[in-house]
Amino acid sequence: MAVVWNGLLVLGLVLGFCLVSSLGELELFAESPKGDGSLAFLVVGDWGRRGNYNQTEVAHQMGIIGEKLDIDFVVSTGDNFYEDGLTGVDDPAFQESFVNIYTHPGLQKQWYSVLGNHDYRGDVEAQLSPILRKMDSRWLCLRSFIVNAEIVELFFVDTTPFVDKYFTKPKGDVYDWSGVLPRKRYLSNLLRDVDLALRESRAKWKIVVGHHTIKSAGHHKNTDELGAQFLPIIQANNVDLYINGHDHCLERIETSDSPIQFLTSGGGSKSWRGDVSWPNPKELKFYYDGQGFMTVQVTEAEIDVVFYDIEGRVLHQWSTAKPLFSII
Ligand SMILES: [Zn+2]
Repeated sequence: MAVVWNGLLVLGLVLGFCLVSSLGELELFAESPKGDGSLAFLVVGDWGRRGNYNQTEVAHQMGIIGEKLDIDFVVSTGDNFYEDGLTGVDDPAFQESFVNIYTHPGLQKQWYSVLGNHDYRGDVEAQLSPILRKMDSRWLCLRSFIVNAEIVELFFVDTTPFVDKYFTKPKGDVYDWSGVLPRKRYLSNLLRDVDLALRESRAKWKIVVGHHTIKSAGHHKNTDELGAQFLPIIQANNVDLYINGHDHCLERIETSDSPIQFLTSGGGSKSWRGDVSWPNPKELKFYYDGQGFMTVQVTEAEIDVVFYDIEGRVLHQWSTAKPLFSII
């Protein structure tokens, strides 16, 4: 019997190792739904401007709504510090654009952040550094990672390295590609890791967060590289929402060729009025070219998305449901 147990133990260890190693490089963080089985979070993007361009006003409303919904965490869709990321861990912009801005009691939760293209113009390692986490324990920014909240799993993906023009036509901007090169290997490993993690996910809802648009009617339009290389993977793995920033607006796109909702929350500070076009108006379900943010409330049965402006007014609401018990 002991031999059998030893054999099983060895097998288990081998399988256990395989399971752990198969998750690849994506670090995993855990969140738990509340006692009633629900979970809520805020999404803000494109914000770090030392309070300017209504960043402070957006932050204030985020706090009020965050408190009202009893949010569990905040998601940042990147371009965290303008114009050129952080110069280092001692850059005062961390205090001036984050710590001293998001002071409302309703925002004293964990922040999960991805990097945007502007963040790559500074010292990228600084934003990823545990030193910042020590300065403000809410801060957590990594290139790509997973937050498993049982009923919902969020996959945060580093989208900047996908975009060709930052490499071929940087237009005088200097990008910090340390940790990314060789680019081809970085991207293929990332796509493999995300595909594997999505496939292994048992969560009822799957949400992918990246900085760049996949589908957007705003200034930057669609990101073709993500449409070609990344969209097929998330579509094949039954992702429910793709959430991005980059375009400084709030929007929701639903197309007949994809089951995914494309949601932009990039209204954390500066925005542009009137810079919008989309070929099929029926697919552009909502577009707001001003500042604001988004909330997501999740239960096992339902997801509710709400967009707010800087005065806390509801601009747009969208919900979807899944049966509580499904036959797989
Ligand atoms: Zn951007």
